[in-house]
Amino acid sequence: MNLKRLFACFLLLSSLAYAQHQPQHKKAAKAAPTTQPKANTASAIHQSALVIDTHADTPQRFLDENFDLGENTPVSEGHIDLDKIKQGNLGAEFFSIWVEPEFKGHYAKRAMDLIDSVYQQAARHPDKMTMAFTADDILRAHEQHRFAALMGIEGGHAIENDMRLLRDFYRVGVRYMTLTWSNTNEWGDSSGDIQDPNVKHHNGMTDFGRDVVREMNRLGMIVDISHVSDATFYQALLVSQAPVIASHSSSRELTNQPRNMTDDMLRAMTNNGGVVMVNFYSAFIDENYRKASSDPEKIKQRDAEVEAYKKAHPHPDGSPVGYNETVAIEKRWAAQFPRPPLKSLIDHIDHIAKVAGIDHVGLGSDFDGVTSLPDGIDSVADLPKITQALLQRGYTRDQIHKILGGNFMRVMREVEATAKRLQAERKEADALSLEDIELMLGNRAEPAQMVRRVNEYGVSFDLTDERRTHLKSEGADDLALDAMARTKRP
Ligand SMILES: [Zn+2]
Repeated sequence: MNLKRLFACFLLLSSLAYAQHQPQHKKAAKAAPTTQPKANTASAIHQSALVIDTHADTPQRFLDENFDLGENTPVSEGHIDLDKIKQGNLGAEFFSIWVEPEFKGHYAKRAMDLIDSVYQQAARHPDKMTMAFTADDILRAHEQHRFAALMGIEGGHAIENDMRLLRDFYRVGVRYMTLTWSNTNEWGDSSGDIQDPNVKHHNGMTDFGRDVVREMNRLGMIVDISHVSDATFYQALLVSQAPVIASHSSSRELTNQPRNMTDDMLRAMTNNGGVVMVNFYSAFIDENYRKASSDPEKIKQRDAEVEAYKKAHPHPDGSPVGYNETVAIEKRWAAQFPRPPLKSLIDHIDHIAKVAGIDHVGLGSDFDGVTSLPDGIDSVADLPKITQALLQRGYTRDQIHKILGGNFMRVMREVEATAKRLQAERKEADALSLEDIELMLGNRAEPAQMVRRVNEYGVSFDLTDERRTHLKSEGADDLALDAMARTKRP
């Protein structure tokens, strides 16, 4: 029994003693409604929270299985649908745009197809869900009692080493990106293959990788360090001007998995102001399960079975056989190991809350992307059990609300504010000088292109009559000159 409960017992006993000594007529007053205790039941705490989960792999099911969120499917098939979302009071989900490395040569197309699949779901269920792109959007959806769908890219290889694609993904609504998935890409190391001598590593990130982080800051796309190597993690924190997240990572101190976070990393997250969202996967939260399921012989046997299936069921168009086509085999395989208790998951939340701080922990289930979950957590409908367990451990209503979504909202707002600041700075610095304009004219820039650039960046000089005449003699047309007159920055 903890001190708090001891104190509660004392209060109860003394109030009983007090009641016994009251004159009879006072008893009538006891019927007055008491609202305080009710508001702090697990159910009341959970139902009044804005619950945000930052990682679910459901889009593969939308795209490859034609799964509709409106279908109420058994938990053996999927962890998320609209009924389960309602039961779990989930306010917002980040759907993972996970590009399997097998799609080499078609990463961006695969990502765009997955993105479209999320929009399609929102279009089919406008009364129950909506796309969301900002912290305010999430709040608005919550007030309208609609589920907010957001998107995060899982695996930086999806941008095909092209900053323009990164910006395009932001434009179509992607709001976070894990710098890597389990594969090291051409600009960042992953924890998934960091021990593999056959993979070319970069000691963390290349210069381009650092530029990706900077551009994400400028755009307002949250930098997600789940899956990256330790060196990539520390470098990303040095470069990022905004708080970062781990959208689905647990504690390495409790479960020795390389993609979990050490206590030093957790403390670095405190300094950064970011949030670590705990992954629910049994092998990431329970050391016994991890050990049992990492038996090399058993893994070999599973991989062989998956490969055999892929060979026997090739796609006619040659496209890769995706994860969710073989996931049934993997789930069957995973079921041979007993599920860990819910306590293991709560231990991870508790540990991160203690080491990183209560403001730096959240939920990143990995629903629809994992083959085993702790006992009692069969789907998103079971999220209230987490609230109940946290309450039993002595967490207060405010603390639980932070874990369930409040911490993430704070980070999203900070990322948005940083982007706003960086964009304002960049615009000022990039205004075109008179020399830039003369150079463009010397290079015979197309008039339309010149208007576009002037409109985009603005100019840093006053277009006096003298300059107008001069630039006209150099070949500037009136539309471009008018644009210069309009876009002068202070
Ligand atoms: Zn993942």
